[in-house]
Amino acid sequence: MDDCIFCKIIRGDFGTEFLYENEYLVVFKDINPKAKTHLLVVPKVHVESLNELEDEKLMAELIKGVKAVTKKLGIKSYRVHINTGKEEGQEVFHLHIHVLSNSDI
Ligand code: 5GP
Ligand code: ZN
Repeated sequence: MDDCIFCKIIRGDFGTEFLYENEYLVVFKDINPKAKTHLLVVPKVHVESLNELEDEKLMAELIKGVKAVTKKLGIKSYRVHINTGKEEGQEVFHLHIHVLSNSDI
């Protein structure tokens, strides 16, 4: 998607640091953190929101990505959320899982 900010980040247009990456997803820091550590786990394919996610393999990979990046960074306690739909706070219409923690990385 040409006008999607997360697709641009994934393409490397802004030189964003990826804290974790595999064939399915990237993880980078939220630009406006709402906790000491605020990461975004983002699939490489453009899926608008959880409502459009049909691929069960990708669903599993996204959760595995949460586990992998938190393990890699030594984060033992965290919370995750997925805003779905603008009425519930979704601002970027490329699916992402927020990972928030009071641990420093
Ligand atoms: P949403 O509200 O859609 O669930 O979350 C979008 C998140 O993306 C927000 O927390 C916002 O701070 C973050 N964000 C928006 N634009 C950028 C950007 O260009 N870079 C990064 N790293 N985060 C962004
Ligand atoms: Zn996108």
